[in-house]
Amino acid sequence: MTKRDFYEVLGVSKDATAEEIKKAYRKQALKFHPDKNPGDKAAEENFKEAAEAYEVLSDPQKRQRYDQFGHAGVSGAAGGGFQGAGMEFSMDDIFSRFGDIFGGHFGGFGGFGGSGSSGQRYNRGSDLRVKVRLTLQEIASGVEKKIKVNKYVACSHCGGSGAQSPTDVTTCSTCHGTGHVTRVQQTILGMMQTQSVCPTCNGEGKTITKKCTYCNGEGVVRQDEVISINIPAGVAEGMQLSLRGKGNAARRGGTNGDLLIIVEEEPHPQLIRDENDLVYNLLLPFTTAILGGTVEVPTIDGKVKVKIEQGTQPGKVLRLRGKGLPDVNRYGHGDLLVHLGVYVPEKLTKEEQKLIEKLNESPNVKPSATASHSFFQNFKRMFE
Ligand SMILES: [Zn+2]
Ligand SMILES: [Zn+2]
Repeated sequence: MTKRDFYEVLGVSKDATAEEIKKAYRKQALKFHPDKNPGDKAAEENFKEAAEAYEVLSDPQKRQRYDQFGHAGVSGAAGGGFQGAGMEFSMDDIFSRFGDIFGGHFGGFGGFGGSGSSGQRYNRGSDLRVKVRLTLQEIASGVEKKIKVNKYVACSHCGGSGAQSPTDVTTCSTCHGTGHVTRVQQTILGMMQTQSVCPTCNGEGKTITKKCTYCNGEGVVRQDEVISINIPAGVAEGMQLSLRGKGNAARRGGTNGDLLIIVEEEPHPQLIRDENDLVYNLLLPFTTAILGGTVEVPTIDGKVKVKIEQGTQPGKVLRLRGKGLPDVNRYGHGDLLVHLGVYVPEKLTKEEQKLIEKLNESPNVKPSATASHSFFQNFKRMFE
């Protein structure tokens, strides 16, 4: 099945602003909203498609990857566990993630996305966010990290029910266990049957007569947990990994939230990252620039020897292919770019002074007209 272009799905241009994208998504979401199209499978598909497009285009990083690589750039499979367009959205996801877009006076959509109601209706634990700091070496190879998180887990005494025994749980008499109440309401889209969270049981569909004393009826307790995460190679500062269901447990049953891991990059003492490329600034003795020679250059996996040509000009860039970082979506490897500078000595002994003065009389020391020309051409190019 071919995926439609995300910009086309939302009906916006490629250079649409964040505000335009949000507006367009809101329009689509309202048009295909399940409350307005009950039982309409096609509308539901459109609704999900719009959410998927919005998920990517509303995130500057994902949008950039999508612009560059299309759907492949943001697909879940290629991203090694990254959330992206390849992920199948459930209706619950859409309301829990983008519910706020229906906020304001559109909040009347019953249980759907009304402020604060989605959490109760779907009874989902909250997401946990942790930062993981990685060195460039770890980013280059990918790494398994063990992190300790303090989170809500289901109470082991009551199995998460919050009741002292199974007989202490009764079906809610207001909503008869459905968790919601239905009413007919006038909205800007006409008369509509809307559902809202049952006020008696807060959408849980059941009430507890005797609370579990260990968790005080909450069904969850706070606890430290060590979680091991596989960080794929090539991640970058600010990227977010999502581990489904590893976040907080929900009160009294329901689905767990997600664990969101935010990547932080530790600066390397010598190498500077430029997307998948690495940059190393190397200052050559002017004698090496003139005579040529071999120098050592640091890479992610140790030093390598690099040949410097005779008569190397400052500003020259050597490209060591494949010595950069792997692409997070496995589109190959970046390069290591060695920017060459030339060190001019600031102090000389009398003897050195004499040698240089002697050399200065030699005709080859003065730049030729063509050398001058190409130098200023390069200089101009830098500012274009
Ligand atoms: Zn308990
Ligand atoms: Zn109820």
